[in-house]
Amino acid sequence: NEVDVELAIEAAQNAFPKWSKLTADQRAQYLRELSRGIMQKLDLFVQAESIDNGKPVSVARAVDIPRSARNFDFFADAITQFHGETFRSHYNTINYTDYSPLGVVACISPWNLPLYLLTWKIAPALAAGNTVVAKPSELTPMTAYLLCQVAEEIGLPKGVLNIVHGTGLRVGTPLVKHQTIKAISFTGSTSTGQVIAEATSRQFKKMSLEMGGKNPNIIFADCDFDKALENTLRSSFANQGQICLCGSRIFVEASLYDKFKTALVEKTKKLKQGDPLLAETEQGALVSAGHMDKVLSYIQLAQAEGGKILTGGRRFEGSGELTKGYFVETTLIEGLAFDCRTNQEEIFGPVVTLQPVDTEDEVLRYANSVRYGLSASVWTENLSRAHRMAAEIESGFVWINTWMLRDLRTLFGGYKDSGIGREGG
Ligand code: NAD
Repeated sequence: NEVDVELAIEAAQNAFPKWSKLTADQRAQYLRELSRGIMQKLDLFVQAESIDNGKPVSVARAVDIPRSARNFDFFADAITQFHGETFRSHYNTINYTDYSPLGVVACISPWNLPLYLLTWKIAPALAAGNTVVAKPSELTPMTAYLLCQVAEEIGLPKGVLNIVHGTGLRVGTPLVKHQTIKAISFTGSTSTGQVIAEATSRQFKKMSLEMGGKNPNIIFADCDFDKALENTLRSSFANQGQICLCGSRIFVEASLYDKFKTALVEKTKKLKQGDPLLAETEQGALVSAGHMDKVLSYIQLAQAEGGKILTGGRRFEGSGELTKGYFVETTLIEGLAFDCRTNQEEIFGPVVTLQPVDTEDEVLRYANSVRYGLSASVWTENLSRAHRMAAEIESGFVWINTWMLRDLRTLFGGYKDSGIGREGG
């Protein structure tokens, strides 16, 4: 609660002078040790992330945990290469930019990629010489707790990294409003981002908000069919569709529509859903009962709006222990208008819509019709069209003939209601 927040901020403030005076090399060394410490306990972290979140262990092992470790290595490298600019002016003076740490900063993260997104915020803040008070999602606290253990084991100076567990109301609010907090790095829903921006607007804190999405996945008839199909399956359902970059609206050029739809439905039906702790499971559970209910309510809404379920559409019952889990079938829906609620609001689950389109202009209108603008995918072998689309889609990221591949040096962030500020780079 707010008492813990107060104590954490005090600890961070006390640690700041010494931490910020370390050399970049010294701080980088700590970050590398945090990375190594995570990888040494890979199995433990993988199990914890899967149990906490419902994601398959295969995903936590291949994506979440290695990437969490890599976040520390990436920013350890980055800070040792970071530099300002110098200008010799025509007045014969030298102007230079000098970067200094801010002080105590807040990092707030969601439940979908728990440790991955938390470390993506903590690592650059620590690398730059700030001290941190971080709040993981109350739904997925386990790997953040394990990270604290690693921090103690490697001897990270006390007070440099403080993790406070709790809800948005009891911990998030007092944290972001605290006058000592100089910057806020938040990832979560657009509605929470709005609350944080409002709550702190009079304090002029530095702020990065990474928020919701409703990403289009655009498939032209001249695409590499197999590649588009394989990646669409991933971009639709990876992590049960609970990655902010998942494509939830698939637009297919009309001449390819039936062929693509048939193939996608067939592949979707084959996804192996079940116990997240089994190595062969491809689709796990959703994070909570509340989220499952929300996703199921959107499937009902889609039907009320005239949508036809092509596959899925229900709670996945499974057997034995699984019947108590929060599983939703991988669901494909067609027959909806681009501007209905199902196609405008973020569902953040394994629910994807399909729609045929005739022209570039039409698909751009549909793609850009939402309040969000986080990412998009375009599948075409026509180079000119690819660049035209990339320029016209209102989105922080446009992938051409791929999905989720990103050099971490590339800036990350959303247009419109998907975000302000940029991470990475
Ligand atoms: P959420 O907004 O409910 O919660 C995110 C975090 O904010 C949690 O730690 C929560 O406790 C905290 N919080 C809640 N209220 C707060 C308040 N008033 N003050 C301070 N902190 C508060 O989001 P969620 O349900 O955990 O995550 C899902 C959302 O995250 C989706 O909308 C998804 O698109 C988004 N997301 C975005 C990105 C991105 O990079 N843009 C990445 C992942 C997830």
